[in-house]
Amino acid sequence: MKSIRIAIDGPASSGKSTVAKIIAKHLGYTYLDTGAMYRSATYLALQKHLTEADVQDILKELAQNPISFGRSEDGTQTVFVGNQDVTLAIRQNDVTNNVSWVSALPEIRQELVNQQRIIAEGGAIIMDGRDIGTVVLPDAELKIFLIASVEERAERRFKENQEKGIETDLEILKEEIAARDYKDSHRKVSPLKAAADAIIFDTTGVDIDGVVKFIQEKAEKIIDMGN
Ligand code: C5P
Repeated sequence: MKSIRIAIDGPASSGKSTVAKIIAKHLGYTYLDTGAMYRSATYLALQKHLTEADVQDILKELAQNPISFGRSEDGTQTVFVGNQDVTLAIRQNDVTNNVSWVSALPEIRQELVNQQRIIAEGGAIIMDGRDIGTVVLPDAELKIFLIASVEERAERRFKENQEKGIETDLEILKEEIAARDYKDSHRKVSPLKAAADAIIFDTTGVDIDGVVKFIQEKAEKIIDMGN
């Protein structure tokens, strides 16, 4: 059976990771959450009190504490920097509110994009992020760009945070999501944008199953064509 690479991009809380995880399971593919990698770099930078001026030190920290993924007993994905389990720490507000400056540093992007391409080498992968279709895997067989209104995305993130026990305020969440969208789409290096050959899908009012079905049908069509 043909194995393909699926790129799912889109703004914060557009549902990328939720649907990507489900589709990966259905297809037996590897799932790579590239946002977790930028969050891990941010976690290291904050832990060591590093700023934009210290990019070489952030790279050193990343080399000394490589990012890796594992699986917890209940099957959910875990994230490590070195031996430290940062799965929950990288979802906290301090990381979320600092990730934009770390992910705008070209040297950090270069390093993490290299790592992402190495992971994708074997194919049979579904990757989510901001620049997967445009930069990381420009020749991916399927590119999806998910969008949704700020209100709906804030409500989704609010529920997610509640489930994880992270305190948040819905109105502040809306402002933060809008601010992160702005920063991610206006940065000089690899801004958030749909690849010219991406399928743009507005998930406002569409449930998870609907989004999964839409993407999976497209993926299966391409996989079947390769048989
Ligand atoms: O997807 P998530 O919201 O966890 O991503 C966190 C942040 O990481 C984004 O707001 C963006 O700044 C950065 N990011 C990126 N490129 C990617 C994935 C995430 O710049 N491919």
